[in-house]
Amino acid sequence: MAQQLYDNHGILINYVRLAVTDRCNLRCFYCMPEEGIKYVPKSDLLTYEEMLRLMQVLANLGIEKVRITGGEPFVRRDMMDFLRALRQIEGIRKINITTNGTLTAPLIPELKALNVDSVNLSLDCLDRERFYQITRRDEFDTVMETFHLLIKHDISYQNQRSGDGWQKHRRPGADGRTHEAIPCKCALYRRNAF
Ligand code: SF4
Repeated sequence: MAQQLYDNHGILINYVRLAVTDRCNLRCFYCMPEEGIKYVPKSDLLTYEEMLRLMQVLANLGIEKVRITGGEPFVRRDMMDFLRALRQIEGIRKINITTNGTLTAPLIPELKALNVDSVNLSLDCLDRERFYQITRRDEFDTVMETFHLLIKHDISYQNQRSGDGWQKHRRPGADGRTHEAIPCKCALYRRNAF
């Protein structure tokens, strides 16, 4: 490894967040207006090839973990091809994904096969009507399907909206990792896992 990255306080930097798109198919009221936002032109977004090259360079500098985020990552076409290629990069040990869960359910078996380390599921509320009010989209059942499939496939998950006011229920999975379910209360703010 040529050299490693440190912040201004001398702390080793070993993970990055990689936003693969600014697009999203929900309209959470605290995030964007109902009519949407003006997206960055596609030509200004990094291509997958550029992102893979970037991750290769960062892996050579000691980056071991990456969180894939957006927007909603899975609205970007061919995301699974990108994840497969990302998995091949030597040095990237952990891949975590943040998703709103609307397009994720059919992909979960393959995410499991790719050994994705955790999924950060954006689920604002377990009340269907309130979910609709928050996200302005009728996707509650789809997101809940994703939630249950994460459990079924024993993929480590957490709820992106966790924070004060939520009740957390932790249980160890068969793999020894901690799984976190948040069965009640609504949170009207956003707090990322890292
Ligand atoms: S799912 Fe995330 S990116 Fe999409 S509108 Fe909601 S907060 Fe914004």
